Amino acid sequence: MPRTPLIAGNWKMNGLRESLAVVEAVGAGAPEGPDALLCPPATLLAATAAVKGARLAVGGQDCHAAASGAHTGDVSAEMLADAGASAVILGHSERRADHGETDAHVRDKVKAAWRAGLLAIVCVGETLAEREAGRASEVVQTQLAGSVPDGADAARLVVAYEPVWAIGTGRRAEAADVAEIHAVARASLAERFGPDMAAAARILYGGSVKPDTAADLFALEDVDGALVGGASLKAEDFLAILRAA
Ligand code: PEP
Repeated sequence: MPRTPLIAGNWKMNGLRESLAVVEAVGAGAPEGPDALLCPPATLLAATAAVKGARLAVGGQDCHAAASGAHTGDVSAEMLADAGASAVILGHSERRADHGETDAHVRDKVKAAWRAGLLAIVCVGETLAEREAGRASEVVQTQLAGSVPDGADAARLVVAYEPVWAIGTGRRAEAADVAEIHAVARASLAERFGPDMAAAARILYGGSVKPDTAADLFALEDVDGALVGGASLKAEDFLAILRAA
């Protein structure tokens, strides 16, 4: 079964209302074919949803595990959905590092995303020290096992392999390494959720994806799109990556 590529843009803590011009340009120029998703900061979610157009979807960058309650400063999955989101990035390495998120936290957030009807994009990936110690595959397998709840299916779960050392550094992982880890991730999904789920599940690569290197990446068998940080802030760059998919 062919998998529809997904190109997801992660704006991180960037973007003011003036950035809605980027949303409009991406929405107007998005090609038919790949799924296009932009994840702006929570402050811009509703406004992004209002101007994005039909070819672009909008997502959050995190959510709390609870639906509501005494959690000052947090945003629930239900709130993201209410603001117009259809997806949420969970377990990004910046959240794991800055906010101490563990696999167990991520797993609870994925359940919350599903409760609210959102697609969960679960991020996994090794640090440079872990790669140099030959532990990249093991780390990704462990993160996947801990971060993905039981009952996952390809309609509600996307995996993003993001080597920590490649995020925002301009240093993309080598094709052979991407291919190896994506195959490991797909095998992990197959072992736990069965071959049909694994064959249908989308596995994205993230880490310094740029317009000039995207096509090579998308040619790899197990790469079903990208999670894009810096290059998603410029409409032309993000559109070029979408066209490459
Ligand atoms: C990211 O934010 O997940 C990311 C991959 O960032 P960048 O593309 O800037 O490396």
